[in-house]
Amino acid sequence: MSGPTGHTVPEPSSGPSGTLVLAGAPLPLTVPARIYSCGITPYDVTHLGHASAFVWTDVLRQVIRLTGIDAVLTRNVTDVDDVLTRAAAERGRSYDEFGLIQEYWFDRDMAALHVRPPTHAPHARHHVEHVVRLASALLATGAAYERDGHVFFRGAHLPDTVGLSRDEALALSTEYGDRPDDPLRDDPFDVAVWQRSGPGDPAWPSPWGPGRPGWHAECAAMALATLGGVVDVLTGGADLAFPHHVYQAAMVEAATGAAPFARRQVHVGTVCLDGAKMAKSTGNLVLVGDLLRDAPGAAVRLMLLDRRWDQAWEYRPGALADATALLEELYGAGGTPGTSEAAVERVRAALLGDLDVPSAVRIAVESGGDAARLLIRTLALH
Ligand code: ZN
Repeated sequence: MSGPTGHTVPEPSSGPSGTLVLAGAPLPLTVPARIYSCGITPYDVTHLGHASAFVWTDVLRQVIRLTGIDAVLTRNVTDVDDVLTRAAAERGRSYDEFGLIQEYWFDRDMAALHVRPPTHAPHARHHVEHVVRLASALLATGAAYERDGHVFFRGAHLPDTVGLSRDEALALSTEYGDRPDDPLRDDPFDVAVWQRSGPGDPAWPSPWGPGRPGWHAECAAMALATLGGVVDVLTGGADLAFPHHVYQAAMVEAATGAAPFARRQVHVGTVCLDGAKMAKSTGNLVLVGDLLRDAPGAAVRLMLLDRRWDQAWEYRPGALADATALLEELYGAGGTPGTSEAAVERVRAALLGDLDVPSAVRIAVESGGDAARLLIRTLALH
């Protein structure tokens, strides 16, 4: 084919096709698809709740590739955070040294769960200058104000935009460290883009004095720096929906003027234990490392995936043995010689249809052959 300038233009590849349905609606994608996945604050070991969000994001990326489109994934590391600074200080370490050690353990758990490394793994401490730029842009548009060495983003309108009552939103803002009771702010829902550092806090120079970034602003800046002002999918655990993702998106939109920041949001269902959310703060945890002593990573992975991605669920002892048995069934099916094109198409359609892994697994087990092999490869269960 000859282009307007006489150069040879390659034919479009006739690779796989199909449109992804995600979170209930078709999501037409261009090349490359851009995914921002909210990563860890590296201050403790990986639990099943974290692992679930990262495994599902990995599957989303592979399912997008089934359509022939490459997916660029940013998964950040929140290594500037007061929770991390405190945890490090309790152990007599600096925040960055302690964070790197925790990150090593996290990477090891992810590798054991067959989660492929992200395209970009930005660290908050390497993007402080970008947060300063973001704060300056938000001040220039009037979306933020400076007060006493802090820069606050105006968020009074945000609970309404996601259908939360003021009381519900206040409880969540408090739980996630936004300090809505801080009297310096014009409104309880204003959050720090930049915060003045006290003794013991990490600090960087800024036009407003020495300080450090706020959590939501870090993710906003790291998304802008690695993917630009719009992402196709924003992913994370369901507990990140508010306040974190709402503020991250609102800051980017206010700074760039382009909306929405995230074309689609994927909030992976909460993992519970004994009726309560699995969380570091409560110690109500099942650790990935403990499960990996009893079963291969592929079995833990399948246990996380054999459900709807947005469904909250309760971990029970025995779930891992069930997943291990199902994995054996899948391997058996993958060892049969079948090459049914129709079955392969049904597996693809189930995965592209809002990541319906349970249906895809059933089809693969029943049909065997190429259909099972496609599923095993796409879900990285080998
Ligand atoms: Zn984030």
